[in-house]
Amino acid sequence: MPRFFELTRDKAMWARFKGDFDAAHKWHLPGVRCDTCGVTWGSSGHQYPGVDLSYLTERESFRSRPVSVAEFERLRELVRPLAPPNAKLPPGTSLGALAGTASGKFGPFTSQDDILWLVHRDALEHLQAEGVRGLLGCRTELRFRSKDAPELLELQVEPHGRLHPDCLPPDLPPPCATCDRQAFRLPDDPILDAATLPTDLDLFRVGNFATVMIGTERLMEALRRLKLDGITFRELPTR
Ligand SMILES: [Zn+2]
Repeated sequence: MPRFFELTRDKAMWARFKGDFDAAHKWHLPGVRCDTCGVTWGSSGHQYPGVDLSYLTERESFRSRPVSVAEFERLRELVRPLAPPNAKLPPGTSLGALAGTASGKFGPFTSQDDILWLVHRDALEHLQAEGVRGLLGCRTELRFRSKDAPELLELQVEPHGRLHPDCLPPDLPPPCATCDRQAFRLPDDPILDAATLPTDLDLFRVGNFATVMIGTERLMEALRRLKLDGITFRELPTR
C-alpha cells in the first residue's frame, strides 16, 4: 500500500537561509459573487504558474476582483484550452509566472505559507533523475538585487484526489449548485480517500483542499537520499 505525506515548511531551515520574496502571479481567475448562496469568494491553492495568458486579448480582465458567476464562467472558458486537461479552475485560481522581487539566500525549497513552492533548478533536476514522477518546474520572474541570483522555479502542483468523507463534518451541505462552493475547515486529522488518489504522481495537492500538498514515500526517500532539506513530512492515513 503506498504511503502519503503532507508537506509543510521546515521552519528552522527557513530561518537559516533567510531567502525571502515579495511576488504574485501575473493573472487570476476572478472571485465570484454568487446570487444563489449569497457568498463572494475565491479559492486558495489552485496555482498554474505554467499557464501563460500573454496572448489572450482579454488578459487585463484576469484580476482577483469578484465578478458574477456568468462572467467568471466566460473568462474560465478562455483559459481552459491553455490549462492542463481536467483542471478544475475554480474562482481565484492563479495563473502565469510569479513576478516580483527576491533577496537573501534560498535553500533547495522555499515555500510561501506551505501553498506556493519554489525550488532550485538543480534540486528539481536531481529529483527527476531519481525517478520522482510528475514534477513540473515553471519559470519565475523574480528580480534579485545581487548579481549571483539563483535560478528558482515554481512547482506547478495540480489538485488530485479527495479527503475521505469520514474526516469531514457529517452534516456538510453539498456544493452550491451555481458556483460549486463547498466550504469546510481542514480537519485536524485528515484522511485521504485512497480510491481517488493518483497512482502516477509523487507530488500533488488534495483535490478538495488544494492548500494541502501531498508527497509520496518515493518523493520523501529521494529528498533524504539527495539531502535536500526544507520540507517536513507528516504521514496521512488513507481509507
Ligand atoms: Zn454559490
